[in-house]
Amino acid sequence: MLRCPNCGAQLHQEGRSYRCANGHSFDISAQGYVNLLIRHSANPGDDSVSIASRDAFLQKGYYQPLAEEVRRLVQENLAAGGNFLDAGCGTGYYLSFLQELPLNFYATDIAKKAVGKCARVNRKAVCFVGNVFHLPFDDGSLDGLMSIFTPYSAEEFARVVKPGGRLIAVTPGREHLYQLKQIAYEQPYYNEEPGYLLPDFRLLSQNNVRYRIHLESGEDIANLWRMMPYYHTTSRQGNERLMALGQADTTVDFLVQLFERKNDDEEA
Ligand SMILES: [Zn+2]
Repeated sequence: MLRCPNCGAQLHQEGRSYRCANGHSFDISAQGYVNLLIRHSANPGDDSVSIASRDAFLQKGYYQPLAEEVRRLVQENLAAGGNFLDAGCGTGYYLSFLQELPLNFYATDIAKKAVGKCARVNRKAVCFVGNVFHLPFDDGSLDGLMSIFTPYSAEEFARVVKPGGRLIAVTPGREHLYQLKQIAYEQPYYNEEPGYLLPDFRLLSQNNVRYRIHLESGEDIANLWRMMPYYHTTSRQGNERLMALGQADTTVDFLVQLFERKNDDEEA
């Protein structure tokens, strides 16, 4: 299942660490996660501020309908006992909605702080710091995987998900936060909706989860806006106009795609 990021040999849990036959060892932290990144900077991934902003925002429940839709898809598509990975788990908010399902959960993110929070919230999951472009799993060892608002690797996902396995992807929909963009931008625009491009997977379904939210405070607006890539491309005046609002209504719009891993003899 899990393999050593240094040498590729099988990893086995022994007490408070994971070890391979070649003597590489990875300790489970006090928070309950293990670091399986080989080379890493001191603190890669999201910085602490954006992790905290995102977590504070998600805990308010604004994205709960999305989390429930993801749970429905996992429940309907994964058989009991399957191995399921949250690839790019962040602080584990979406995973926390799956905990009652009879699956073996794995969760990874490149940001150590986020994985620490994820491990505290999701006690049943094996949580590790890792890179979605180089996952420490055997070929075809996963029955399913989800990738929510996070970078993805078509090749690596095809390698680790077994033929017939499922993949759930969530990306921003066309109208996501449009009303906030109207305030922040001189010329607001709708998002493109390319979704995931996965040649080794078949698209089974695709739909938008779209609804209005009422942002109750300037803090919630700021936390939401900072989560988005828009924040970095908005003018200072645009950001200030948004941050000055005490409350706001906006559409949230998520493109939710469900894929099935093709058999290896099928054409890509
Ligand atoms: Zn090793």
